[in-house]
Amino acid sequence: MKTVQIHRNKVDAILRKHPWIFSGAITSNTDTFSDGEIVTVVDAKNNFLARGHFQHATIAVRVLTFDDLELNQAFFNDKIAKAIQLRMSLNLITKENTICRLIHGEGDSLPGLIVDFYNGVAVVQCHSIGMYNSIELITEGLKNAFGKQLKAIYSKSSDTLPTRTEVEDAYVFGKCTTPHQALEHGVKINIDWVNGQKTGFFIDQRENRYLLGKYASGKKVLNTFCYSGGFSLLALKNNASLVHSLDSSKKAIVLTDENVTLNEFNDRHASIVADAMEYMKELPEDYDIIVLDPPAFAKHRDKRHKAIQGYKRLNAHAIRQIKPGGLIFTFSCSQVVDKNMFTNTIIAAAIESGRNVRIIEQLHQPADHPINAFHPEGEYLKGLVIQVD
Ligand code: SAH
Repeated sequence: MKTVQIHRNKVDAILRKHPWIFSGAITSNTDTFSDGEIVTVVDAKNNFLARGHFQHATIAVRVLTFDDLELNQAFFNDKIAKAIQLRMSLNLITKENTICRLIHGEGDSLPGLIVDFYNGVAVVQCHSIGMYNSIELITEGLKNAFGKQLKAIYSKSSDTLPTRTEVEDAYVFGKCTTPHQALEHGVKINIDWVNGQKTGFFIDQRENRYLLGKYASGKKVLNTFCYSGGFSLLALKNNASLVHSLDSSKKAIVLTDENVTLNEFNDRHASIVADAMEYMKELPEDYDIIVLDPPAFAKHRDKRHKAIQGYKRLNAHAIRQIKPGGLIFTFSCSQVVDKNMFTNTIIAAAIESGRNVRIIEQLHQPADHPINAFHPEGEYLKGLVIQVD
């Protein structure tokens, strides 16, 4: 096994159990290392620090263990079983909820690995080549933890690995036709991990959709950036009088319409294919509730300023036009825009609109997307519910 040595001024972060080692912290020559290789990390005196997956990238090592353990089947079985046990102990998979993130990368001490569960099927998404190379260990670990409850495992990493890697998306255990039906808060949802975005569904908004449902009865709702319509479905289930779902992707709108039909909510629903930023400039209806859940406007720090301007513009349009007393559910999933920055941006939008605004709820990612306390970068989803006078 290859070894990487860390500069003596750079060991502190590792001793504090931060799971990322940046290439600049490494003093060894790594030219001959392959992407995905397992490496042992040592300090300047060759003392063991950690073990993880190497990759020729800014994040050069993703640490899987700070103990001197082999990254073998027993290791993966243990980590995967613990992650699943957490979800089970929190009662996240029930008769009404058959959708859950089982493994959330660093949050479950498995950096580079995402596993989502849809009513008996696990969809694996690898963000590092080391994890992709470990697919057999992951497959066995999931089968071991779930037993007969697991019908199939689909590996989908073609969107998330560097283009230099050859990646094939395929079933690695069992098979299942898509779309596959699952439940969120008792609402039926068709999931298509083969053709859909990410693993097929945005699981991270589950609790926020539930909250929208609590406020939706009798209300006229606009759900922008709707993807497969999660927020719309919860509003409709909870007796919203009218729901409009908007997305710029025709494919997303087809998914939304299918889900609305599946639940027989058609009579109170219409969908719109449009650019949200354009559409929000002049709304044709006075809505009681508007949901703003855009994709990450900034993926890197250098795009942050532009992203903030984008959030401000979008929210200012909504604040200016919402019905008096209305609610806006507004989100940002850009990791580089933190909670305070986001709140300040919404406040700036409120000032610009000239209306009185109060923050009534502060929202975040749910328990199946845990944040490793030693990896604060894991906090990415934040939201506010604001009420406009
Ligand atoms: N709210 C969704 C998830 C949103 S993901 C849910 O609960 O499932 C972001 C969505 O924004 C994607 O479906 C993408 O197609 C859409 N999108 C991206 N840019 C857009 C734009 N300019 N206008 C409207 N929709 C856009």
